[in-house]
Amino acid sequence: MLNFTVGPVMSSDEVRKIGGEQTPYFRNDEFSQVMFENEKLMREFVYADENSRVVFITGSGTAAMEATVMNVFSTEDKVLVVNGGGFGQRFVDLCDLHNIPFEDIKLDFGQDLTQDILNQYSDKGFTGFLVNICETSSGVHYDLDLISDFCNENDIFLVVDAISSFLADPINMKEQNINTLITGSQKALACPPGVSIIVLDENALERVENNQSKSMYFDLKDALKNGERGQTPFTPAVTILLQINARLKEIKAQGGVEAEIKRISNLAEDFRSRISDLPFEIKCKNLGNAVTSVYTNSSASEIVDTLKKEYSIWVNPSGGQVADKMFRVGHIGDLTIEDNDKLIDALHDLEKRGILK
Ligand SMILES: *Cc1c(COP(=O)(O)O)cnc(C)c1O
Repeated sequence: MLNFTVGPVMSSDEVRKIGGEQTPYFRNDEFSQVMFENEKLMREFVYADENSRVVFITGSGTAAMEATVMNVFSTEDKVLVVNGGGFGQRFVDLCDLHNIPFEDIKLDFGQDLTQDILNQYSDKGFTGFLVNICETSSGVHYDLDLISDFCNENDIFLVVDAISSFLADPINMKEQNINTLITGSQKALACPPGVSIIVLDENALERVENNQSKSMYFDLKDALKNGERGQTPFTPAVTILLQINARLKEIKAQGGVEAEIKRISNLAEDFRSRISDLPFEIKCKNLGNAVTSVYTNSSASEIVDTLKKEYSIWVNPSGGQVADKMFRVGHIGDLTIEDNDKLIDALHDLEKRGILK
């Protein structure tokens, strides 16, 4: 099986080996040291201030999105949400559910966020900003510097969902004034799904401290307090946290976060340049490195199904209106240029067979 979906993705041998071992007991110093190291490496990889803290939540990416919305915002806020697809809509739904006052910037699927659009929201009393920096449903990667400047000028607290972007696109919490960053285990971290990660800067920590919302599992005050001794309030996904530890150290040993971003962007560029002679269209101008949305006049679902059944290659189908027009190819996980060769060969074969028209 060759997996080009956007998550869960393929893991390194080292990470897979840990998955095959017995799960160790965790209320001990040994596990705390692993968690401290996870926190330190996460902080380093997103260029967070040394006073920032990292929370590991057992739950998929949406758990971290919900915990963040609940713990850093309140009914006193007025939040601006970038809503350009499935994940932007999820932030909208979360604000709705938790009674956080908000307005959304509705963008067309794949549409870019521009200065002109943002200007319409200047000086309107917004206190918070929520964005999925790569809207994985369409693949569009919004301009983080543009958003960062807007939030700076308007004194807005910035939350970035970088779940599919972390390790794939450059991100710098300190320089880009990101107050809270969210990511997950099953995208470019290339571990199994089940752990999501929240990095909170000092402003975010203060917001959490003063927040009155109630939840047992999503209480970040409790998570932060336990984190001081390298522990979590409840039994975490121990094995995945050990896998994350191995993976973060692997990235560090292979040249660090910049080298990993370069590796992924090379894979993305290679794929994009090599489909230019196939009957495909890349519509999105500002794609992130994690995923390529590929438009076709043939049936996208037939392409996805045939690749899976007859070539053992998994690409990512799409939902909604574009379900039969677009499929997505991920560049994250344990993939190589040789794997791209196999996918490109298979696509050429589909063209020969008349499935690609
Ligand atoms: C994958 C992803 C999520 C998380 O989805 P889960 O299924 O809850 O892990 C959130 N935001 C973005 C941008 C994603 O790509």
